[in-house]
Amino acid sequence: MSEKFDVIVIGAGPAGYVAAIRAAQLGLKTACVDAFVGKDGKQALGGTCLNVGCIPSKALLDSSKQYYNIAHNLPVHGITVEGAKVDLGTFIGRKDKIVKQFTGGIGQLFKANKVTAFFGKGKLLKGNDVEITGNDGSKQTISATNVILASGSVPIELPFAKFDNKFIVDNAGALDFTEVPKRLGVIGAGVIGLELGSVWKRLGSDVTVLEALPDFLSVADADIAKIAAKEFAKMGLNIKLGAKLTKAEIKGNEVALTYEDKDGAHELTVDKLLVAVGRRAYTDGLLAADTGVKLDERGRIVVDEHNHTGVNGVWAIGDAVRGPMLAHKGSEEGVAVAEWIAGKAGHINLDTVPWVIYTEPEIAWAGKTEKQLKDEGVPYKVGTFPFAAIGRAVAMNEAIGQVKMLAHAETDRILGVHMVGPGVSELIAECVVAMEFKGSSEDLARIVHAHPTLSEAVHEAALSVDKRAIHKGN
Ligand code: FAD
Ligand code: NAD
Repeated sequence: MSEKFDVIVIGAGPAGYVAAIRAAQLGLKTACVDAFVGKDGKQALGGTCLNVGCIPSKALLDSSKQYYNIAHNLPVHGITVEGAKVDLGTFIGRKDKIVKQFTGGIGQLFKANKVTAFFGKGKLLKGNDVEITGNDGSKQTISATNVILASGSVPIELPFAKFDNKFIVDNAGALDFTEVPKRLGVIGAGVIGLELGSVWKRLGSDVTVLEALPDFLSVADADIAKIAAKEFAKMGLNIKLGAKLTKAEIKGNEVALTYEDKDGAHELTVDKLLVAVGRRAYTDGLLAADTGVKLDERGRIVVDEHNHTGVNGVWAIGDAVRGPMLAHKGSEEGVAVAEWIAGKAGHINLDTVPWVIYTEPEIAWAGKTEKQLKDEGVPYKVGTFPFAAIGRAVAMNEAIGQVKMLAHAETDRILGVHMVGPGVSELIAECVVAMEFKGSSEDLARIVHAHPTLSEAVHEAALSVDKRAIHKGN
């Protein structure tokens, strides 16, 4: 007889492992099945985010920022450092150590919460059994009342630029270069292209980013994207818009690219090519043919607003389902589903999920862009405030960017907040809280913000919605 659980989670990324821990906290007998193999060939919990995504990219972004600042920021403070060098082994090694610390930490959390971890590929069978195939080919079947599918996503591969993981790489490859590429090509000026492109640019690569769309960062508010584009250009990221890659050929130790833009075809030769053109839901081998779980036209598992698949006891969360492909979105879905399974009132509001791009300057937003409000015919007011007028930002020599707040023209309810500038990855949290509580710009305008802090930019942007910012003309 197969071992029986209350809940089996397939996938131990930020969606799955959080769902498993919350389910166990609620007294449910829980198992989590994951197939991810770490750099050392052993099971590594944490999925994309902890192994080859959020955490390692932020580790490299931080290390590269320290190095970049030596030449580009410290001299303004009267500090000069001669002969600064990067030891890439230590640089990558630090990242690997952080990854290990966090992936290992999940194993400990599983033990502490009595989640049983299985290592192998899980397949949902009809009737909520899960077949697990180990790396050695061995098979076992476990069963549960509820199964949560959290199989995540994988990079999209271009047919004419297939990953060889030496010269043409995905995110995992670009986190593990053994030397700084002299010339790095990046396909896609999206989140990964900008973050990882920044890492290698700061270490000295000549980075060219080819973006197929004519507009830069069209998911963000246009004003914010415009400021960011200017800063990235100053930093030396060469971003070519409306540029479609048509061919990538590995020739010796180089990659020869052909791309087309409005002026015709162009050639470009690089030492490494990072392809970051988006990710697709990963469901390969996840579902037996007769489970009844449906996929949509983009291969995502179809779920309702409670992340239920419509098949009794089968739920799905994270990158494998609709909504933004963000770790915190998947984690919150995981908590909500565990609570729904336990008969409690779970909650997830996709309208207030914050986005953060960890470049320099950082970009962050929550809610609607100005264009979305215009397209939807929603009447709105705009308040903005530049970091150039924020004492703390100037003291930090990081007085770049602005906070832009959009509020309903009649009710004053905050509909969107968009930021580019120092520390905005943290500032956005205040706005998400306000939006979640259906707050108004007036609410934020009346809250005391410490001086001198970066958060004063949020305060002043809220005041500016009503044309009463203090430290700028209205
Ligand atoms: P995943 O993290 O992809 O985890 C799914 C897990 O399931 C994997 O371990 C996989 O091996 C396993 N699995 C799949 N199928 C099976 C199966 N059949 N059986 C067993 N196991 C299976 N998001 C942010 O919010 N902030 C960031 O800063 C950020 N940075 C990123 C940087 C990069 C370079 C990348 C690539 C992504 C980044 N993301 C970031 C996105 C984030 O990583 C994903 O949104 C998040 O990991 C999705 O979580 P998940 O649990 O749904 O899936
Ligand atoms: P993305 O969707 O952010 O960006 C892909 C870009 O590639 C788009 O601008 C798209 O227009 C462009 N593109 C698509 N096909 C192209 C082609 N053939 N030639 C040139 N450009 C092309 O995707 P991504 O950067 O691969 O990241 C995937 C997802 O991972 C993100 O959308 C995000 O959900 C998640 N992520 C989040 C963070 C974060 O939260 N900080 C960081 C990294 C990744």
